[in-house]
Amino acid sequence: MSSRRVVIIGAGYAGVMAANRLAGRRQPDDLNVTVVNPCADLIQRIRLHEVAAGSRATAQVPMRSVLSGRAEFIEDSASRIDPVNRHVYFSSGREPIGYDTLLYAVGSGHTSADVPAGAHGFGDAESASRLRARLSQLDEGAAVSIVGAGLTGIELAAEIAEQYPRLHVRLISRGIIGSDLSGSGQHAVRSRLAALGVEILENTDVQWRDDSTLTTSGGYILTSDCAVWAAGFRVPGLARDSGLPTDAEGRLIVDESLSCPEYPEIFGAGDAVRVPDSVGGHLRMSCATALPLGAHAADSMMARLQNRPAAALSAGFMFRCISLGRRSGLIQTVAADDRPRQFVVQGRLAGLAKEQVCRMTLSWIRGERRRSGSFRWPKGPLPADVAVPVEAR
Ligand SMILES: Cc1cc2nc3c(=O)[nH]c(=O)nc-3n(C[C@H](O)[C@H](O)[C@H](O)COP(=O)(O)OP(=O)(O)OC[C@H]3O[C@@H](n4cnc5c(N)ncnc54)[C@H](O)[C@@H]3O)c2cc1C
Repeated sequence: MSSRRVVIIGAGYAGVMAANRLAGRRQPDDLNVTVVNPCADLIQRIRLHEVAAGSRATAQVPMRSVLSGRAEFIEDSASRIDPVNRHVYFSSGREPIGYDTLLYAVGSGHTSADVPAGAHGFGDAESASRLRARLSQLDEGAAVSIVGAGLTGIELAAEIAEQYPRLHVRLISRGIIGSDLSGSGQHAVRSRLAALGVEILENTDVQWRDDSTLTTSGGYILTSDCAVWAAGFRVPGLARDSGLPTDAEGRLIVDESLSCPEYPEIFGAGDAVRVPDSVGGHLRMSCATALPLGAHAADSMMARLQNRPAAALSAGFMFRCISLGRRSGLIQTVAADDRPRQFVVQGRLAGLAKEQVCRMTLSWIRGERRRSGSFRWPKGPLPADVAVPVEAR
């Protein structure tokens, strides 16, 4: 086989996993792997709440310490994909590059349009740094309102309350906190937040009146010295703007092998893709999903390049790991389709386990550099057991 060019757009968990799995193969000379990302670091998004609260200096890991040395790295942002002529264009205006196979792995985040005026967005490295700076300026007794109580909001509220006992932290949820956890899981989260002094407002929608004032659906006015928007993430518009097939949220539509039906040489992985319900209805936007999708996409791309049929994805879950500050956590056991089981581990042991899982994510990615195919993941539910789609994190 003559040398083919694989271009990977996005070097998060999915993109770097895929790049290493492809470039780490025993005979990598038949492939030229190029990775495109706007910055030369891997952002460990699963640690951004630690950075925001000041319990960790940075979530950035130098790309060269995780990405295979056999992969070319381009520090730039893709501005357009031309799927007909198979080219990627760049925001900087640099020469476009061609590809034989492309992986779309641009993840998720906030755009400034999503974040109400006056609120701090939260979800990328810059917003975490800005929030960190703001929190450090707040006086004793200042109020911090976190709007959005998915797992990200819960982790952020606990981390801030633990690091800044002098602040009044408020967590505002549209529904019940931890509604997708088991009864014992919910109880563990509530108890820990209560112990940290976090005020919880449930079944509450808010409207921003100005920088510091929120009105709740119950008609109350809440004044905050710092309001944080931690509600649902969106995906970048690159696929839609490039004329690729997307769902209503702008996620690239892929088939069961993670290839785009209209352009079979384009694959997708991670938060920015829509996997068919038949194999992915239970998958939520998460690192726990991005890593297997990245690895599976790499396998499917290899199959396509070698004219072999690509296998359907099978990916599921075993746990949900939630940090509740540095000294506590919750391990919620789940079925393969992410439905919570009764058994949970909580407290310090769970906090240590969560920390270990965060470290393992980097070990799994680095492991693929040394031995392609080393990363294994829990298989998905049997088709008959697939649950209805789960809300995004
Ligand atoms: C505070 C927080 C805590 C979390 N905790 C957990 C957790 O405990 N467990 C869990 O499973 N998940 C967790 N998540 C979710 C998880 O981080 C994401 O689901 C995961 O990062 C998705 O991986 P990805 O590879 O799809 O995308 P990302 O990690 O978002 O990476 C995408 C990459 O693509 C780049 N990119 C974007 N656009 C372009 C472009 N046009 N050109 C080139 N590159 C581009 C981005 O800069 C980024 O580097 C958490 C998220 C947050 C914010």
